[in-house]
Amino acid sequence: MHTAEQLTLARLPSGVRVQTTIHRYGTGDGPTLYIQAAQHGREINGAELLRRLHGRLTDSTHPELTGTVLAVPVADPLTFDRSSYTTPEPIDSAAPNMNRCWPGDPEGSIHERMAARLWAEIEEADAIVDLHTGSPDMLTHTVYLRGDADSRRLAEAFGTDLLLAEAAGDEADAEWDTRDFDGKLRVAATREGIPSITPELGSNKQLGEAAISTGLDGLLGVCRQLGLLDGEPEPWDGTRARNHLGRVRAADSGLFVVDEDVEVGMAVAAGDTFGTVYEPTTYEVLQTPTADREGVVYSVARESTVTAGQTLVGIAERL
Ligand SMILES: [Zn+2]
Repeated sequence: MHTAEQLTLARLPSGVRVQTTIHRYGTGDGPTLYIQAAQHGREINGAELLRRLHGRLTDSTHPELTGTVLAVPVADPLTFDRSSYTTPEPIDSAAPNMNRCWPGDPEGSIHERMAARLWAEIEEADAIVDLHTGSPDMLTHTVYLRGDADSRRLAEAFGTDLLLAEAAGDEADAEWDTRDFDGKLRVAATREGIPSITPELGSNKQLGEAAISTGLDGLLGVCRQLGLLDGEPEPWDGTRARNHLGRVRAADSGLFVVDEDVEVGMAVAAGDTFGTVYEPTTYEVLQTPTADREGVVYSVARESTVTAGQTLVGIAERL
């Protein structure tokens, strides 16, 4: 069974309503899985992925779900319409990034109200998949809260080769507080006892077939793990690593030439080099960026004009 409902998430200063659509599939008897995409509006692979899932779940030749899937393909229409990550200042100066204000506040800023309206649908869920994409420079991976076994199992069922365990609160580094990571949907929901994962599928602004099909397989694996579909998810044998730890940063501003053999997904040892940062007018070499630890390369800056302090290479340290 499938139904679709329009939700009013908030009202803009002009009186215009911010609306989106929530799809419901299944019988109601059994677990509930909530999936959303595009709360960062330029991260569109998840929206297309949910359209493919819709095709599958409404195709009568496939077995009916045991339970319910709720799907919101465009969680933040305000950033979707701008192909942006955050909203401009006049729309929400208090919380321009929707993924920093969960579980929201019905009397708060526009994003806080939008989150609160969606949270009302989420509260009864048994599991959450919040679909995101990284940059073109980033390896597809799935993030879960470190130490939460149910979320880890969900991530394994989703099945990307790389899983990143993100430390939270007191366990985390200073970045946690300064970047309001507490307000991520995944973190807020996991803390409410709802296992949650954030797949980062391919790159933003472009629909990438590999990322979309990885995501569809992932969602079907999650459905099997939860018992919404018969069968078991594929056994997972990828790499589990820590999030936000290994960052090789630019020591100075300039142009970053990446060595030809460097690519996301590769294993590195401490001391391995990635290329050269140089001064573009004099050609003076400013830095030979070097791995500070052993691990897996999960991001490489491919936009070559870099500024001091910027992350050049992200290295996930195996757990
Ligand atoms: Zn995102």
